[in-house]
Amino acid sequence: MPESTYDIVVIGAGIQGAGVAQAAAACGYKTLVIEKFPEAGLGTSCKSSKLIHGGLRYLESGQFKLVYECLRERKRLVKNAPQLVKLIPFYIPVYSNSMRSSWMIWLGLSIYSLFSFKKFSIVNKSEWESLDGLNLKNLKCIYKYFDAQTDDKKLTQAVIKSAEKQGADILYNSDFKKSDIQESKHIVTYIKDNKEYSTTCLCIVNCTGPWVTPTQEKIKPLLKTPAIDLIAGTHIIVDRPITGGVYYIEAADRRAVFVMPWKAQQTLIGTTERHYSGNADNLKPDETEKRYLLETYNSYFSYQLTTDNIIESFAGLRVLPQNNQSTFNKSRESLIITNAKLPGLITIIGGKLTAYRASSEDVLMKLKDIMGPPEQQKNCDTRNIKL
Ligand SMILES: Cc1cc2nc3c(=O)[nH]c(=O)nc-3n(C[C@H](O)[C@H](O)[C@H](O)COP(=O)(O)OP(=O)(O)OC[C@H]3O[C@@H](n4cnc5c(N)ncnc54)[C@H](O)[C@@H]3O)c2cc1C
Repeated sequence: MPESTYDIVVIGAGIQGAGVAQAAAACGYKTLVIEKFPEAGLGTSCKSSKLIHGGLRYLESGQFKLVYECLRERKRLVKNAPQLVKLIPFYIPVYSNSMRSSWMIWLGLSIYSLFSFKKFSIVNKSEWESLDGLNLKNLKCIYKYFDAQTDDKKLTQAVIKSAEKQGADILYNSDFKKSDIQESKHIVTYIKDNKEYSTTCLCIVNCTGPWVTPTQEKIKPLLKTPAIDLIAGTHIIVDRPITGGVYYIEAADRRAVFVMPWKAQQTLIGTTERHYSGNADNLKPDETEKRYLLETYNSYFSYQLTTDNIIESFAGLRVLPQNNQSTFNKSRESLIITNAKLPGLITIIGGKLTAYRASSEDVLMKLKDIMGPPEQQKNCDTRNIKL
């Protein structure tokens, strides 16, 4: 049974909510998580490309800090969750008509390797034939480096379990309905099994991913959140295995697409980018996106996939700040928003699965500023907690 009062109520048990709950509980704050789905990680956090990576392509848009931070977090996750986060080879083939030249990729990988202390190499020509039927015509060279793959849902559930172990209470099938202020405390109301319940807290953390705006509108006093864009990204899973590692290929429109080994004998291919303005609950992969992914795969590999090879497809929503930049150039860092008019509210917008722990640490710093130290102070350091 949840208690009647908490230090912190976290809304949403995606990777961000799980991370914040883990960090807050590890520090000694009385923490409650409210999640509308029956399990953690059923929102965006099970619909990602499932990579724990710095994001080589973010170097192109100058996001050096993000890449450095993500690579540092990748190292920690490989150490703390070796059963869930595994380094695997990544291949970048460069053809005579590739849009990114060989020297550009060499430069990017040099910076990546400097940030991660992991070397990259050029694949020997004698090994090209063994790479999953990759087209060899006009192939100039293949770069090989290492990055990590995970199961995003299982990772999120491991973090929420860790939060529970640190003392957080988690409520599933619980829909946040509203919150009001009374004597500088929030009265949080949620619906569970068609009944309405309330609990009080000093601080609310809105971690509802693509539902961030409708959630914010239920928190009184009403504050304006920064305008956001929702960008849908689709993946397909096909019934044909690849074994060599992850292939990092360029689609006809210059976007990066990953072809990744997935579970037994399957391949995960993604992702796409399209603006989405509907209700986040109704998002579905669209047929054009599926065709785009099949065509991109088919232009690189000798085996030709058809729609019959697709066994599953899914779509997730990235939350990106609304500005004049193209989707490609928009920052992938998480925005942690506070407001002097309502200090007991923190809102997280965007961010990477990979960097959840670092952004949760930043949230915790802000929570400490707002609430002071917890009654029973604990270790606080999530850097070495095993998952
Ligand atoms: C296509 C795509 C590919 C990506 N690939 C990668 C990648 O390879 N690597 C990487 O590092 N990052 C990747 N990302 C980014 C990463 O997946 C997301 O940033 C991350 O999963 C967002 O987590 P979240 O907790 O903010 O949101 P979510 O996982 O969506 O969690 C929000 C939670 O809030 C809950 N909620 C909403 N409203 C309510 C309510 N009223 N009451 C109670 N609960 C509520 C939802 O049910 C949900 O569980 C990708 C994103 C996309 C879209």
